Amino acid sequence: MQRVTFGSMPSSFVKVLKFGGSSVGSAESLARVASIIRGEAAACRPVVVVSALAGVTDLLVSLIDSKDPETIIARLAKRHIELAEAVLDGRRRYSYLRTIGGILDGLRERCQLPDNGFRSASILATGELLSAPLVAGLLTQEGVVAQAIDARRLVVTGPKGVDRIQTRQRIRAWFEDLSRFVLPIVTGFVASDEEGNTSVLGRGGSDYTASLFAEAVEAAKFDRWTDVDGLYTADPNKVKGAGKFLFLLLEDASSWNESSALGMHTEAFVPVLEACIPVHVRSTRFPQGDGTLILPRLLPGRIERDSRRQLAHANHTPQIAPTTEARINGFQ
Ligand code: ASP
Ligand code: MG
Repeated sequence: MQRVTFGSMPSSFVKVLKFGGSSVGSAESLARVASIIRGEAAACRPVVVVSALAGVTDLLVSLIDSKDPETIIARLAKRHIELAEAVLDGRRRYSYLRTIGGILDGLRERCQLPDNGFRSASILATGELLSAPLVAGLLTQEGVVAQAIDARRLVVTGPKGVDRIQTRQRIRAWFEDLSRFVLPIVTGFVASDEEGNTSVLGRGGSDYTASLFAEAVEAAKFDRWTDVDGLYTADPNKVKGAGKFLFLLLEDASSWNESSALGMHTEAFVPVLEACIPVHVRSTRFPQGDGTLILPRLLPGRIERDSRRQLAHANHTPQIAPTTEARINGFQ
């Protein structure tokens, strides 16, 4: 039988790491996120997807019909400036404040426009455009070459939602060109239509962004970082004795989520299910915890295919015969 050895070199497999609004909402949580990302970057090639800071998209929702946009924009500016002051040093802070100055000027202009069908989406998209450069600035300050990526040029929507084929092609082309020494911090939730008008993926849409990226870059895993250590049978803060899932089947999680039990964006399960990618729900407050590992039913077939590819690439001869199940599932 083929011997599989454990190496000490950093591996090149890709992981998508998604951080929700509460994970990037305060100086303490941002510091935890930066340390998690640095740890992951030492072991794999991460693609990071971030939401807007907690509460920011709600503020933007209230901005859409507000009679007093300046007050809301001033609150948004204050929130981001205070956080930048808490986590970024002089040079990085200066460059971040310049970036968000331009974004907030654009927001102010859009608020004054009459509704042309795209106004609301372009207002809502602002939260992620403000958060991604903050996370990228913090990581760069800590010695990682990180770059904020505006997903509007990569995620394409059409009349029926995301155009999966175009989106996959664009993400793949972008990822092929991206230096492996650059760590991308991608804006969740935001997209654009074929004419380049800004669109958004619906509330909670950063999960969907992360799933689309995971599929396109053929990620080994999608880590969904949040502030609870996994999925429970009921809200553990309310129901005494609520049980935690260590493992779940992705197919079950997807159908439970449709009955709104899991609180994930409903479409977020589709790309990872199709591409057979495990989803790991983990807590930034307790990163050493097990979280909940959500595994696709066909994962063994994918492992078999991937490990053979790797062995063949390393000039080994795989000596295990394909299992019946792998053949049936089209992995051979
Ligand atoms: N910021 C967006 C929202 O609050 C998207 C997300 O957080 O996933 O809905
Ligand atoms: Mg959010």
